[in-house]
Amino acid sequence: MNNESKIAYFSMEIGLEARMPTYSGGLGVLAGDTIRSAADLKVPMVAVTLLQRKGYFRQKLDASGWQTEEPVEWTVESILEEIPKKTFVTIEGRNVYLRSWKYEVNGIGDFKVPVYFLDSDLPENSEWDRTLTHFLYGGDQYYRLCQEVILGIGGVRMLRALGYENIKRFHMNEGHASLLALELLNEQAGKTGREPTRPEDIEAVREQCIFTTHTPVPAGHDQFPIELIRRIIGPREEIFKIKDIFLYNNLFNMTYLALNMSRFINGVAKKHGEVSQLMFEGYTIDAITNGVHAATWTTKPFQNLYDRYIPGWREDNFSLRYALSIPKHEVWEAHAFAKNELIQHVNRETGAAMDTDVLTLGFARRSTTYKRGELLFQDGERLKRISSEVGRFQVIYAGKAHPQDSAGKEIIKRIFHAKESLKANIKIAYLENYDMEKGKLITSGVDVWLNTPQPPLEASGTSGMKAALNGVPSLSVLDGWWIEGYIEGITGWSIGEAGRGAEASSDWSNDALSLYNKLENIVIPLFYHDRDRFIEMMRSSIALNGSFFNTQRMMLQYVLRAYF
Ligand SMILES: *Cc1c(COP(=O)(O)O)cnc(C)c1O
Repeated sequence: MNNESKIAYFSMEIGLEARMPTYSGGLGVLAGDTIRSAADLKVPMVAVTLLQRKGYFRQKLDASGWQTEEPVEWTVESILEEIPKKTFVTIEGRNVYLRSWKYEVNGIGDFKVPVYFLDSDLPENSEWDRTLTHFLYGGDQYYRLCQEVILGIGGVRMLRALGYENIKRFHMNEGHASLLALELLNEQAGKTGREPTRPEDIEAVREQCIFTTHTPVPAGHDQFPIELIRRIIGPREEIFKIKDIFLYNNLFNMTYLALNMSRFINGVAKKHGEVSQLMFEGYTIDAITNGVHAATWTTKPFQNLYDRYIPGWREDNFSLRYALSIPKHEVWEAHAFAKNELIQHVNRETGAAMDTDVLTLGFARRSTTYKRGELLFQDGERLKRISSEVGRFQVIYAGKAHPQDSAGKEIIKRIFHAKESLKANIKIAYLENYDMEKGKLITSGVDVWLNTPQPPLEASGTSGMKAALNGVPSLSVLDGWWIEGYIEGITGWSIGEAGRGAEASSDWSNDALSLYNKLENIVIPLFYHDRDRFIEMMRSSIALNGSFFNTQRMMLQYVLRAYF
């Protein structure tokens, strides 16, 4: 078999298409965009993930905004190619057999990056084991650990079974995949027929691994009781002779395993790199700021505009800086087209009766406490006053809460509540079932992209980058990528002060005040009374941020700094 890929990319979720519910949010979308850019740049990569046959859920919202979840059945067989080669992992002493399904990501130069979806739903497995690749983030700790065994250990074995013998680097997208290091240790020792407990084995494996961390809070890191690990992957006592590589607070910690076994470790924005460095003392944490795949997230009217004014922009995203020379009226026309598409969709789906001439703000992301989705509604009276005295605006929301995140579900309810109580003054819509397709529709169709995370918890954030590629400036708290992307009054506006970070406790009322002041004094007047300058900001967003915060630039940095 001709399998020359040199870099294996492991991710628990990968977002390739909206019709494949194999991702939950930012992590998966980033994985998909990473692979798309690797294919464009002809980086010899192969990717591994789990099939998630029942998908991440379909979100239903009732009249009060309460979320319920429905499984998404998707037609695996009609999208992916079944690969006959099988392998197995050992879970609690029994063999769990795996097959894989292949999807090929085709780059602009027709270079292909294969993605293998591991699948345990085979007749030779028990009924329970057959469900292990069904649900993304679906079960309890036991289910989760079994999935990580399949991804990390099963993933390496599947690549070997498929003939990938020459992989130079294993890239772990988050700690979910870090058990792959144990399998590599095993292989290392297997060559000489002894236990994988020698420092030189660890050194040899470390030379092959790259770890990207995404979680700026310790509680977000995967860890498991030692007894559970023993039960599931054990007995394998040789592993516990080298427990320093994974033991943290007496737990088996996937993040520490990845940290200890990687030659290159990075956070996903400069600030996140610093925050991670403070969190993981004694390790060297680099930073490579995330991006998005430019052609994927640029809506048709802007694609056409770039094709005419910046030929070659797909091959060379840096050239988007020439957007500064696109005539302003054409930028506005492309935007008006995208906005109209969105408003029509929103009115059709929600009956919100929104108006294309009204300043439209967008906020769409996973509904979870730190994203502070309801920060805008801290002071309803002030909002009403701004809308009636300064200029009208309307707001489009979307986002799923994790099924077990009841606080996240409550946030959606509170946004629904605000929607009702403000409806005489401000039109608000909440779109159901946020996915990649809706993400593109919303980020490209609104006038201003809003983001209000609690610093420093937004490791990077990527939806504002999608907005920038479509000429949509951001109004955002200074956290994650926006610290690097914001130039006040040029690419967007900040909420709160610059330079706030890990050390500053977040202050809802100050941030809300800052948000209201910006809306009242700057954003709304600019939109209605100085359209020319507003469009200039749209162009600068493309030229300064679209040209840089893309996965093409990101992949080049991984190639230069992490892979080779
Ligand atoms: C881009 C995207 C995300 C990530 O957005 P953030 O700004 O990082 O929160 C999540 N979900 C979907 C469907 C997306 O398209």
